[in-house]
Amino acid sequence: MNETRIHQARKGILTDEMQAVARQENLSPEFIAEGLAKGHIVITRNNKRTDIAPLGIGKGLSIKINANIGTSRDLLDIEGELEKARVAVEAGAHTVMDLSTGGDLPAIRKDVMKAAPVPLGTVPFYEAAARALDKHSSFCLLTEDELFDVIEDHLASGVDFLTVHCGVTLGTLGRMEKEGRIMDMVSRGGALTAAWMRYNEKDNPLFTSFDRLVELSARYDATLSLGDGFRPGATGDATDRAQLHELITLGELQQHALEQGVQVMVEGPGHVPLDQVQANVLLQKRLCHEAPFYVLGPLVTDLAPGYDHITGAIGGAVAAWAGADFLCYVTPAEHLRLPDVDDVRQGVMASRIAAVAGELARGMPGTREREHKMSKARRMQDWDAQYELAIDPTVARGRRGEAPPADESVCSMCGEFCAIKVQNDAKEAKAAKTAKT
Ligand code: SF4
Repeated sequence: MNETRIHQARKGILTDEMQAVARQENLSPEFIAEGLAKGHIVITRNNKRTDIAPLGIGKGLSIKINANIGTSRDLLDIEGELEKARVAVEAGAHTVMDLSTGGDLPAIRKDVMKAAPVPLGTVPFYEAAARALDKHSSFCLLTEDELFDVIEDHLASGVDFLTVHCGVTLGTLGRMEKEGRIMDMVSRGGALTAAWMRYNEKDNPLFTSFDRLVELSARYDATLSLGDGFRPGATGDATDRAQLHELITLGELQQHALEQGVQVMVEGPGHVPLDQVQANVLLQKRLCHEAPFYVLGPLVTDLAPGYDHITGAIGGAVAAWAGADFLCYVTPAEHLRLPDVDDVRQGVMASRIAAVAGELARGMPGTREREHKMSKARRMQDWDAQYELAIDPTVARGRRGEAPPADESVCSMCGEFCAIKVQNDAKEAKAAKTAKT
C-alpha cells in the first residue's frame, strides 16, 4: 500500500495540498492535517491530476456543491453535456460527476475533465454495466475482474472520487424486501448492483472484495464516496430499516478504509421529510465517524416535480445546518427528463443558496461577514455592492434592469415610497435641521 495524504497527515507532514486547502478555507494547515488523519476531511484530487486545485470537503470547511452531467444511452449529445459541465463550474459547482452511460465513455470522461477543471467523480459500475451489455448482451454477466478493470481505468485516467455502492448487500436487500417499501430502490447504481446480485445469487463484489477497492484507491490517493444504494425514493420510505442497515455497513467500511489510509465520504438520502433531515445527518455522522457527508438533496416532498431544485434546496439547507458537508445539486428536471443547460444552472444556484443558508446558520465566519456586507449595502442603497455580493450578480442586475425606477436609488417595487429611502431621507433632513439650529 503506497503512502497517502492520510499517512502523511498522521506523520505530521503538512503537504502543499494541505497548505493550499488551508489558504482557501482561511484555516491552519494543522487543522486540515488533523481532519484528514481522523477521516473528517477529504482532499479530492487523484495523484495523477495536476490540472486542478486540491479541494477540501468536510468538518469545519465551507460547504461544497456537486453537479451531475452525463449522456444516456437514449440521449447522446456529448457537446451538450460538455456545455453543461462548463456552465455548472461557471455557476459555482465545486465538483462535477460524469454519469455518462452512452457513447465512448473513456473519451467523454477525458473531455469532461478538460471542460470542467474541478475534481471529477464517476460511478464506475455504469461503465462496467455498459461494457458488459455490449460484450455479453446482459450486464448481469459482468465478472468481478471486469468490474475492477473498469474501476482501475477510471482511477488511472485521473478520476478524483468514485461513487461505489458497497453497502448494497444481500443482507440489506433481504431486509428491504421483508419490510416492504413504496419505491424499493431508486439509486441507479444500487439497482444495477442488486439486479446483478439476484441474477448471480452472489453478494456484491464491491463489498466482498472491498480491500481490492481500498488498495486501488490508495494507489491514486482517490476518495471513495460510499453510495447509498438504498436511499429512499419516497418520503414514506425515509429512515427505514434498509437505509439504516446500509448506513451501518458504510460506517464499518469507512472505518476499515480509513485504517488503511484511504479517504472516504459517505452519501446520503434521498427523499426525506423535513422533520427527519436533522436526524439523518446525526445518524450518518455518528455511525460513519464524522466522515464527510455528501447528500443528494434531500428532497423534502414528493409533490413538486418541475420544482425539485427547490425541494432539494430546502432539504439541503437543513442538512447543511445540521452538519452535511457536500450537497449534490438537484435540477428542475429531476424525475422528468435529462436536464438542459438552464436546468443545470438553476440546480447549482439552488444548491449554493442551500449551502450559504446552512453556513450562516452554523455561524461560519466568512459567510456571516458577507451577509453583513450585503445588509449594509442594502441599507446604503449601494446597488453595485449588492450585485457584487449576490450569489448570482447577473440575475440580480438583470431583474432590476427589467423595470428601471425613476429614482436610481430605489427599485420599482415601492418607487418613491421605498422604506429605506424614506428613512435615509428623514435622517438626513433631521441632521440638516439640527445643523442649522
Ligand atoms: S423600493 Fe422597496 S423593495 Fe425596492 S429597495 Fe426600496 S424598500 Fe426595497
